[in-house]
Amino acid sequence: MDEFTLISRYFDRPDRQRGDVVTGIGDDAALCQTPAGMSLVVTTDMLVEGVHFPVTTAAEAVGHKALAVNLSDLAAMGAEATWFTLALAVPEVDEAWLEGFSRGLFALADRSGCELVGGDTVRGPRTVAIQAMGLVPEGQGLRRAGAAVGDRIYVSGTLGDAALGLSIARGEIEVEAEDAQYLRGRLDRPQPRLELGRALRGLASAAIDVSDGLVADLGHLLNASGVGARVRLQQLPLSSAYRALQGRAGWDAALSGGDDYELCFTVAEERIAQLESVAATAACELHCIGDIVSEPGLHIEDVDGSEYRAASSGHDHFRNHS
Ligand SMILES: [Mg+2]
Repeated sequence: MDEFTLISRYFDRPDRQRGDVVTGIGDDAALCQTPAGMSLVVTTDMLVEGVHFPVTTAAEAVGHKALAVNLSDLAAMGAEATWFTLALAVPEVDEAWLEGFSRGLFALADRSGCELVGGDTVRGPRTVAIQAMGLVPEGQGLRRAGAAVGDRIYVSGTLGDAALGLSIARGEIEVEAEDAQYLRGRLDRPQPRLELGRALRGLASAAIDVSDGLVADLGHLLNASGVGARVRLQQLPLSSAYRALQGRAGWDAALSGGDDYELCFTVAEERIAQLESVAATAACELHCIGDIVSEPGLHIEDVDGSEYRAASSGHDHFRNHS
């Protein structure tokens, strides 16, 4: 048995989760049945060890995160996750690593109803590339374009935790064990907001996931929509672990830190009541952080009402940060 036949053992599972997979792993390509009236949503995201996750990351967390970052993009489009493919490069066949990686990957895949339908494995520096696919009713996909003057801006969950988790992983800051575990968990195990994304169909005027930091990603939404925004610092949702560090961390992790994988979206004033009923049953909190304005650019209001200038505009994928 060759080494990649061995690898396929960890990924080729006999039990199919979805009835719409005609042919999955084992043929030249997968055949998936797309229902009438639905649009196919496709995204891909690659993680390189030492660049996109620290070398100290547990294999199970790498498996989780590689899929989670892709599902987060589907969530931002309002899609239901259906299928994914996996391209994996590993420096050697390390069975313990592969076992942990596949456990993390499939735990999230099964929870999200998303089935692995194909892939490829090669020898090389540890790299995980996933292409995730999903479905959204025709005409209901959420986009970055669509925010209008007067809309309110919301984010799910809390901001900046993953960036602080990365600082902890690098040994740059030390915090209490419980906070360290929470922040590192936010870096390693982001939770894609798929249910929220689906609930925002027909409700949000625009949406994006926060992968590169609020300033950068809200900036993309504003550019696509041709509008500006006013965001108030004191309305940014921070975790208690972040607040405990705020004397040292300031606002920059919340504004510019990457890897949170929360959703940032806009809602017209007349739909706020509808949003409140979504918020009441959502798995995460939703917070209004500001408003869409006609003046271009992102204006951040400091706690005292003056204009705040962020130290950096976003997370740099090409910087070696592990
Ligand atoms: Mg995205």
